[in-house]
Amino acid sequence: MTETEIHLCETGCTRPAPSTRMCWHCVDDIVQALERTVDVSDGLLAISRREMAPQLLRTEATTRPAYGPTEPMNLTAFAILQDLVTWSRLTAADWSQVDNPGWWHHWVQARAQMAVDMVEGEKETAPDLAGVRHRVKQEGAYSPMLVGTATAWLAKYGIHVDKKRVGMWAARGKLHPDGRDHTGTALYTPAAIVAALHPTRKPADLIDA
Ligand SMILES: [Zn+2]
Repeated sequence: MTETEIHLCETGCTRPAPSTRMCWHCVDDIVQALERTVDVSDGLLAISRREMAPQLLRTEATTRPAYGPTEPMNLTAFAILQDLVTWSRLTAADWSQVDNPGWWHHWVQARAQMAVDMVEGEKETAPDLAGVRHRVKQEGAYSPMLVGTATAWLAKYGIHVDKKRVGMWAARGKLHPDGRDHTGTALYTPAAIVAALHPTRKPADLIDA
């Protein structure tokens, strides 16, 4: 008699998952990670609105002068918050059947940890600034794009900027293009537009004491 092959959890954890793509153990990792973010969601919202400084940024500010836009960190907070809201609507049963279980198992826990770290600060683990920067970059905050595309990108994160306003800033020299396309049209990064929208730092703040 041949043994029936039992489907294993697709996260690679090697546990059996006979009727689901992800085993219940891995599902529980996700559910618990999301539960830990409940207490920090208010803080995350405050950070995304720039009413509160993210802890990760404070760590960074001590090691390096704050040149350039700091606002992408807020976009990160906002993006994480949106993810957490979306994910909180999913049940354990939903997670057990999710496509690409290995990626979700990793990503939800990483995102949840990032949320906790941003609000509460690093505890035992070292700050993963490289990871945060990589993520912001991945989200396109530093990609030069046409004004309309950049403002649409920002609107996705709840930041509404009229593209005419961007043109005005450019005319006044408050904002400089980050390159031009093949037709010579100016390109801007969402990060630079947000920095022009919320100039948080006076020039004097940039000078090291
Ligand atoms: Zn598993």
